[in-house]
Amino acid sequence: AAPLSQLDPEVYAVVAGELARQQSHIELIASENFTYPAVIEAMGSVLTNKYAEGYPAKRWYGGCEQVDKVEVLAIERAKKLFNAEHANVQPHSGSQANFAVYTSVLTPGDKILGMNLSHGGHLTHGNPANFSGKLYQFVQYGVREDTGLIDYDELAAVALREKPKMITVGASAYSRVIDFARMGEIARSVGALLFADIAHIAGLVATGHHPSPFPHADFVTTTTHKTLRGPRGGLILCKAAHAKAIDSAVFPGGQGGPLMHVIAAKAVCFGECLKPEFKTYSGQVIANARALAAAMVARGYKINSGGTDNHLMLVDLRAKFPELTGKVAQETLDKANITCNKNTVPFETRSPFQASGIRLGTPAMTSRGLKEADMTEIAGLIDGVLSTIGKPEEAAIIAATKQKVVTLTSRFPLPYKL
Ligand code: PLP
Repeated sequence: AAPLSQLDPEVYAVVAGELARQQSHIELIASENFTYPAVIEAMGSVLTNKYAEGYPAKRWYGGCEQVDKVEVLAIERAKKLFNAEHANVQPHSGSQANFAVYTSVLTPGDKILGMNLSHGGHLTHGNPANFSGKLYQFVQYGVREDTGLIDYDELAAVALREKPKMITVGASAYSRVIDFARMGEIARSVGALLFADIAHIAGLVATGHHPSPFPHADFVTTTTHKTLRGPRGGLILCKAAHAKAIDSAVFPGGQGGPLMHVIAAKAVCFGECLKPEFKTYSGQVIANARALAAAMVARGYKINSGGTDNHLMLVDLRAKFPELTGKVAQETLDKANITCNKNTVPFETRSPFQASGIRLGTPAMTSRGLKEADMTEIAGLIDGVLSTIGKPEEAAIIAATKQKVVTLTSRFPLPYKL
């Protein structure tokens, strides 16, 4: 019964190192968050020992009476949170959730209309390297070059021409409100099913800060670790008519035994999301994103679509630094303890490995307690670093910025113990 530090010092050192990294860095990856200690406690519990293939009261194994209760809690809370008719809390990840949606009603070769990855869509929305692009025939839609907004008119025209069986909507790098009502109309007008992947905006949807995909969508999926601030995992919500097909597509269709410790942690997360404090938190995530976007614009950066309505923004670096790639920007910011990711921009001219943009998001730093004024300071730090790239003072500016980041982050300590 030796603790990790004694049993396996090598792994312990990584965990300790990662905690130190998280404590001392500004985390701006839009898909990340800092979850609650109680979620980590549930994830690190004895529930990890239990096999529970099947669903509550319909398991293939004995001894499931305790884990049944926690899965029911997670399901009921998820349904309440999203006002959904049915919830499946078993997907191991967002991609697994999407796999289950496609396989529940489609057969390989079927046509799906999905958002272009370089316009903000996700790998599971038809990328050729992903199962989605290999199994199904994807037709893509995107954003308008002049506005950066989803081109619903083009989408309607493509839907009419292509007659897809399903339309996928949802994005990893789109900063504006998605018009689910319009998407629903377009889908119904061509007899397609509508699938909304709200992996990024789920926390905003749950708190009424973004319109809900229900009742327009037949299927909704999300991850639980982004704006929902829960454990790493996936969730499927759907209309009652699809409940049976979804449940069989998850198990036995695409997965074996569910991760009961993670399902317990999802229940904790959904419980937190139902509290008024979470609504306040989500509102602050958006206020912080708006403040960060405004401060970046004030410093001469172009934000795709001109700003943000949600928790993230896509900074097109070309307007201020035509020669600077997203890759170099990300790597240089890394040296100053500012973490973000390079991202392609719509109508990208570089390879995805170089990219012309960086994506910035506020869920994680908002969880630490940062407010609008801190976002303005962060924009100044980012600009200071990017403006110095290639100049003689680069190393000194990076070192000074890193010190400022350490000072700033130490004012907002993370509540984790080793
Ligand atoms: N869908 C969207 C829109 C996402 O942004 C992501 C993750 O980034 C996923 C699905 C997949 O989630 P996971 O990484 O848990 O498979």
